[in-house]
Amino acid sequence: MNLPEIFGENVFNDRVQKERLPKEVYKALRATIESGKRLDASIAGPVAAAMKDWAVSKGATHYTHWFQPLTGLTAEKHDSFIEPDGDDSVIMRLTGKCLTVGESDASSFPSGGSRATYMARGYTAWDPTSPAFVKDGTLYIPSIFVSYTGETLDKKAPLLRSMTALNIQAKRILKVFGIDCKKVSTTVGPEQEYFIISQKQYEKRKDLQLTGRTLFGAKVTRGQELEEHYYGALNPKIAAYMRDLDNELWKLGILSKTKHNEVAPAQHEMAPIYTTSNVAVDGNMLTMELMKTVAQRHGLVCLLHEKPFKGINGSGKHNNFSMSTDGGLNLLDPGDHPETNTLFKLVLTAIIKAVDDYQGILRASVATAANDHRLGADEAPPAIVSVYLGDQIGALVDSIVNGKDYVPVKAGKGSIGVPESPIFPKDATDRNRTSPFAFTGNKFEFRMLGSAANVATPNTVINTIIADAFMQFADELEGKENIESAVNELIERELKAHYRIIYNLDGYGPDWEPEAERRGLLNHKNTADAVAVRFEDKNVEVFVRQGVYTKQEAFARANIQLENYVKIINIEALTMIKMAQQDIIPAISNYVASLCSTVAIKQAVNANIPFDTEKEIITKLATLEDNLYKATAKLEADLAKINKEEVISASQAMAHIIVPDMDAVRAIADEAENITATSFWPFPSYFDILYGV
Ligand code: ADP
Ligand code: MG
Repeated sequence: MNLPEIFGENVFNDRVQKERLPKEVYKALRATIESGKRLDASIAGPVAAAMKDWAVSKGATHYTHWFQPLTGLTAEKHDSFIEPDGDDSVIMRLTGKCLTVGESDASSFPSGGSRATYMARGYTAWDPTSPAFVKDGTLYIPSIFVSYTGETLDKKAPLLRSMTALNIQAKRILKVFGIDCKKVSTTVGPEQEYFIISQKQYEKRKDLQLTGRTLFGAKVTRGQELEEHYYGALNPKIAAYMRDLDNELWKLGILSKTKHNEVAPAQHEMAPIYTTSNVAVDGNMLTMELMKTVAQRHGLVCLLHEKPFKGINGSGKHNNFSMSTDGGLNLLDPGDHPETNTLFKLVLTAIIKAVDDYQGILRASVATAANDHRLGADEAPPAIVSVYLGDQIGALVDSIVNGKDYVPVKAGKGSIGVPESPIFPKDATDRNRTSPFAFTGNKFEFRMLGSAANVATPNTVINTIIADAFMQFADELEGKENIESAVNELIERELKAHYRIIYNLDGYGPDWEPEAERRGLLNHKNTADAVAVRFEDKNVEVFVRQGVYTKQEAFARANIQLENYVKIINIEALTMIKMAQQDIIPAISNYVASLCSTVAIKQAVNANIPFDTEKEIITKLATLEDNLYKATAKLEADLAKINKEEVISASQAMAHIIVPDMDAVRAIADEAENITATSFWPFPSYFDILYGV
């Protein structure tokens, strides 16, 4: 395989555009992509024609506008290129209009009540900044999705708006420093975690199939205690899968770079090289889709759920984020002397301020029923948003806040104490894996995202709140006589005001929760509580001010998030009830019956044959069975009382009544599993699943 040759072979990328488009058209398209100029409508026709010819040469017969509705998945509707050509024959055609806009019925997509259902018209519109590609005989045209009245109905349009807002405000800041540039782009590198299990085991678990996670399952005796799986040698079947996946990703121009085993058994990670946010979002959506479809070809199933197995690490997605100018200046690069890099210090201050002011919506941007099992539950990071700066930048900020001289923390040189080994340069700081928002050298890493998340939403929030901080700073600084002293004054004032959000110690340790509470930081442990803050004025106004969401859009999205939470818990609870009543209780009952008949037979043979073992197990299991039945009945009754149409109250009830009910049902069933004969238990165990590939 010639990797440079296959890389991007199915993408209508810059190289192909240059090759196939008339020179003027190419220049106009690149101007839109590179400096955010509005697309010149007259070029749509020639771009469409060239795109179609190229796609047909790749075997495509169809095209689709590919978009990201509020379901969290992607959506596509395929139309063929054919058009009748008079004498019973057809030609292949894609017009400029078909490339630019598609009309579709939006009524079956979530809108959060922002639209009456009879107003069903929706439009998909081409996003020229993300390249089109060919997959399975179809030309995919990345698009946004809006309603007839112009409300956004997807995750991409607000992301693009937030990138525009950040671009505008960041350029103002740069201008204060005398730097002119065409565009400031945000960049994202999402590290994707996932589980791979065998299809055979998957098919035997209704919970995995219906909810993406196991609702029952006793702890396996060898979980991740030995920490042997992390970076462990790849199982040949997994290695073959990863190879296949890489090939598919590379063909679609996705810069898959790193792959390794993760901490938990059956858990893995893929990290791509970062790119512009909206391209990274599209790439990650494709990655998640391909992770699943490629697995099927190998008789495997890819689980993207945040917590498929209780007691085993869940999966997240680290969102590496930065901003850079078209001239290649990374605004988060501290350089060799951060203490004299005033621009860096100002940018850092803006981010610290933004994260502190809007910790609530950052937390909410990653809140889902599934992610609740990770954040603030039994694994890092916690549900409390805080910023980690590391030794070097931490010392710098401390010196500013405390008015002390900055003593540089130098990145040392490392040696392993063996003369033959080379001396290596060390980083200026160690890693802190427990921080939700960590500075890592020349970027921030937001680590609260769930593995299944569409990264568009958290990035929309990050861009918006940073743009807003930039805006306030620019308003204050523009036109000031002595910029240097005005900037320094501002930095000191704002760092002091937002110092509480900085936490450089173990975010997973027992000290942090009470300490965070003393500092007045939010700690929302479930989606219902986390999303509630989205309705607060301040959290709506920031989006309105930056032109990212209208008030109505902001409310609609918060409603959809809660609706989704309620629906998911409802499906899980119903699935749990069914599994308990139809599979687990009968299995326990059968095993108890078999033990009882063993006792009867023993007694019939000879009254002196001991049966203490049977008696003890029968008593324990029969009690658990009764308790399980009662706990399930309670869950069922509590669920029936909830009015699922009233999302706010329903989400609260789900979080505070149903989730604890479900935990109770599970605890009893898992205890029963531990003492029931394997041959009687109706589902594959954690051992079977986690070690089944
Ligand atoms: P780690 O395990 O230390 O987090 P990885 O190499 O797995 O490191 O991931 C780092 C991620 O950060 C990669 O996706 C990388 O491309 C991305 N990244 C590096 N620089 C930037 C940047 N300026 N903006 C956004 N992402 C970046
Ligand atoms: Mg990372």
